[in-house]
Amino acid sequence: MAKRSYNKTPIREQDAEVRSHNFKEVVLGYTMEEGNLEANRCLQCKDAPCIQHCPVMIDIPGFIKQIKEGDMDGARKVIARYSNLPAICGRVCPQEKQCEMVCRLGQSKKFEPVAIGKLERLVADWSLDHPEEPADIAHDKGKVAVVGSGPSGLTVAGDLANAGYDVTVFEALSKAGGVLSYGIPEFRLPKTIVQKEIDQISAQGVKIETDAIVGKTITMDEIMSDFDACYIGVGAGTPNFMKIPGTELNGVYASSEYLTRINLMHSYEFPKYDTPIEPAKDVVVIGGGNVAMDCARSARRLGAEKVTVAYRRSVEELPARVEEYHHSVEEGIDYSWLTSPIEYIGDENGQLSGVKCIKMQLGEPDDSGRRRPEPIPGSEFIIPATTAIEAIGQGANHVLLDTFPELATNKWGYIDADEETCATSIPGVFAGGDIVTGAATVILAMGAGKIAAKEIDQYITEKKANTVNN
Ligand code: FAD
Ligand code: SF4
Repeated sequence: MAKRSYNKTPIREQDAEVRSHNFKEVVLGYTMEEGNLEANRCLQCKDAPCIQHCPVMIDIPGFIKQIKEGDMDGARKVIARYSNLPAICGRVCPQEKQCEMVCRLGQSKKFEPVAIGKLERLVADWSLDHPEEPADIAHDKGKVAVVGSGPSGLTVAGDLANAGYDVTVFEALSKAGGVLSYGIPEFRLPKTIVQKEIDQISAQGVKIETDAIVGKTITMDEIMSDFDACYIGVGAGTPNFMKIPGTELNGVYASSEYLTRINLMHSYEFPKYDTPIEPAKDVVVIGGGNVAMDCARSARRLGAEKVTVAYRRSVEELPARVEEYHHSVEEGIDYSWLTSPIEYIGDENGQLSGVKCIKMQLGEPDDSGRRRPEPIPGSEFIIPATTAIEAIGQGANHVLLDTFPELATNKWGYIDADEETCATSIPGVFAGGDIVTGAATVILAMGAGKIAAKEIDQYITEKKANTVNN
């Protein structure tokens, strides 16, 4: 066998200068040869810590072994036992904080971990190019409603359809996918890939009703009388605001509006699509998570010459994925560390012209364990900008909750659901994903979906058995 290389097999990417002017995918993926080379780096550990650190516990050495042996169909079958959305996860999961973080190969100082995510993506893309006939399953075990078609809802729906249930997903927007469709931009997660994985779930017999707002166009009472059980995965997409003076000025956006206009309404293809975004030369993005990176990189692609991310802590605390941060730097995004906006400045036409900021210093750790940023008096300065995008976190989606007050929520307004079972305060109603945990990750939302599918199966089976016995 060839000597194991120290570094991950490099992945091809679009050139940074070229890609900062288009919305095409940045990372181009492995060829079969590159994938095989990378698969050969895996040690095939017997105790595989990578599996334990995957929220859906994919048999990672199992599918990597199949790649090594050139059996892509076998690799696809291993992954399919654990995930309905591998092409999505292979692209957006924070592997560096999960499976790859504990990869035994990477524990040695000389070696980088196996590129598990890139290998998952290779198998998943191969699978989408070689679709299988869906299994012929009777959906006669019961009826389940799923509210919300994000990764959590899609996972429950796919698993329950495979287990023999008649599943209907109700989605408020015109397109299924949740954040995968309206939040994460095309250059990180092409919408054709999202759609193909959703199509595979539909092919398993899942019905998806879009433009169906539970709490408005259909009520929870109707759902509870028509279905044997219900899963709520409505996500956390309500934006938090800085609440500083000048928020009403033209050019100040919430990240969710900015990204939805771009992703769902294709504003980057204006006038082919009729939702424009005002072009801006100077843009300030406030925040430091994945959402902030996505906004900054989208603004650059829309033609901004200078995009500055204002983050109130330092690069060490940046919550965004390392890969996204590096990509953003390559694309010419500037960072103003230890910076917090305090006011939006406008011109005589009500248009934003600058963001007044104050410098911060890091004090003692706060509840999150990170050092608390504190303003430095007298350090105010202005960053010129005609667009500012606030990406400082999201809260619970409320439409359903407001019309269903019987459902217990916690002090942050998220649904109070059992971590181990996804059961809520109401029998037959389960919940998971961001609406329970607060804004988190795709794979954690999917993990909750997997747990809920098992619990819903058990709940309906027992309910039917009790009905027969009585
Ligand atoms: P969502 O994906 O939010 O889906 C909820 C769905 O429910 C939505 O489609 C919504 O329209 C629908 N809905 C809401 N109310 C109703 C109602 N009353 N009736 C019917 N439908 C309703 N995570 C990662 O792992 N990696 C990343 O790189 C990453 N990047 C991100 C970038 C952005 C811009 C954002 C916003 C998030 C990102 N995340 C990332 C987080 C991740 O996308 C979420 O944690 C995940 O999508 C949560 O899934 P969910 O199914 O719980 O909810
Ligand atoms: Fe392979 Fe790393 Fe998992 Fe070991 S920990 S099986 S080397 S991917």
